[in-house]
Amino acid sequence: MERGSRAPPHVAVMPSPGMGHLIPLSELAKLLVLRHGFTATFIVFSDFSDNAQTAFLDSLPSGFSYVVLPPLPLDDVPPDAHVETRLSIMVERSVPHVRDVLRSLRRTTRLAAYVIDLFCVETLPVAKELGVPHYLLFTTSFMVLSLLLHLPALDQATSCEYRDLPEPVVLPGCVPLRGEDLVHPMQDRTDDAYRCMLNIARRIREVDGILVNSFVDLEPAAYAALKEAEPEVGRPNVHAIGPVIHRGSHGGAKGKECLRWLDEQPPGSVLFVSFGSRGTLSTEQIQELAWGLEASGRQFLWVVRCPSDRVASGAFFHLQGPDDPLRYLPEGFLERTRGAGLLVPLWAPQVEVLAHAATGGFLTHCGWNSLLESFVHGVPMIAWPLYAEQRTNAVMIADGLGVALRPKTAADGSGLVRREEVAEVARELMEREAGRKAREKAGELKQAAAQAVAGRDGSSCKALAEVAQYWKDNA
Ligand code: UDP
Ligand code: UDP
Repeated sequence: MERGSRAPPHVAVMPSPGMGHLIPLSELAKLLVLRHGFTATFIVFSDFSDNAQTAFLDSLPSGFSYVVLPPLPLDDVPPDAHVETRLSIMVERSVPHVRDVLRSLRRTTRLAAYVIDLFCVETLPVAKELGVPHYLLFTTSFMVLSLLLHLPALDQATSCEYRDLPEPVVLPGCVPLRGEDLVHPMQDRTDDAYRCMLNIARRIREVDGILVNSFVDLEPAAYAALKEAEPEVGRPNVHAIGPVIHRGSHGGAKGKECLRWLDEQPPGSVLFVSFGSRGTLSTEQIQELAWGLEASGRQFLWVVRCPSDRVASGAFFHLQGPDDPLRYLPEGFLERTRGAGLLVPLWAPQVEVLAHAATGGFLTHCGWNSLLESFVHGVPMIAWPLYAEQRTNAVMIADGLGVALRPKTAADGSGLVRREEVAEVARELMEREAGRKAREKAGELKQAAAQAVAGRDGSSCKALAEVAQYWKDNA
């Protein structure tokens, strides 16, 4: 295509490996293509162009194309290196290839912007060098963004591990955070993962702007504080463009079965239990959770996985083998809970489940996409954070927003949530006063989320339209 003035503006999008990154970036790209007249190219890692990813990319409507990078072997990286470390090495190695792709797109399209997610920051200098506006899609909250932007200063000012800080960390406009609730890679400052994180924190200051998958009414004070700081050197503009959630179904036959089961349950009666796309529990925790759900007497729909202590470590994303997750449940559990509970191995059509009238609560690992989906559908939660920034998110939804309850872990140092506590918190959410309040709050957030993306006037629609216009005007 000639770079004529009538060519549509084009956006190059680079997600880091994994559907969890591809989905939010592709939802953003869909908005740019379908509403703002852009065309888009995805730049993806071949090492992860598995069937799911390829099928997903192939299913995108016209206006999209994708380029698969050549393989980037990691044979020389120690097999026990952290996910973050492996990821950052891979992205570093991709830089010359990304340069080639961007150069070629600049020749053949009206390239208006380059959009990445957090783990692709190492490729930013290429866009800078080629004079292409470069933006980050931040796929969690303003609170976590604020934490990341503060990290270099916090690092300078702190000599101990953050979890040993006597006082909570107070980010402007955010609920105070105890050191142990800071994001997972901040829990060990001697670790590679922490260094990667610090590098990312420094690097994100180089972007031209940050599109945040959150909305102003969800975090008004955190958003206002970041906006206020924009004139400071090294503070990129922030734009609230969410909630951008994946609405397509990906449930298959199993998915249909669980939606049919929900059809038979009374409104608001079912507790949905799910730990995201890759969350796993220990064998003992699975058992405690099972006993607790049974004892609660509540209806439940549980996406079950094999326990983490049985999954081969070293796998990039703890990919599961052919093992049957149901065999780790307590003896007789399936028979005893028949009718009251439905177990779905590995994957459920979560968005449809949350949208279903029978779903009255969500026990969640607090991944940001899960939380947004829950806000959109007005479902109150039980916060059960596992990794990444999930503990920070849990503090936000439980202490900040009051839309979730938080089970207590056992005082015996095991880190387990015991069966009695599971039963208690499930009943609390589904039948008692604390649950009623969380439900009310969830209803308010549902409205606010809908308003943010309503028509042309929703705050998030406007923000994205402004950014898109700016890109077009400057392409
Ligand atoms: N998801 C799903 N079915 C499942 C588990 C997860 O559809 O059984 C989807 C969920 O709706 C969400 C995404 O996978 O869109 C998980 O993203 P999140 O940010 O919550 O957690 P992550 O998997 O990245 O830890
Ligand atoms: N904008 C952007 N990235 C930038 C600068 C601006 O996305 O690096 C968008 C942003 O939404 C902003 C709008 O364009 O609200 C207008 O930009 P700016 O305030 O820089 O324009 P001016 O007020 O100088 O005309």
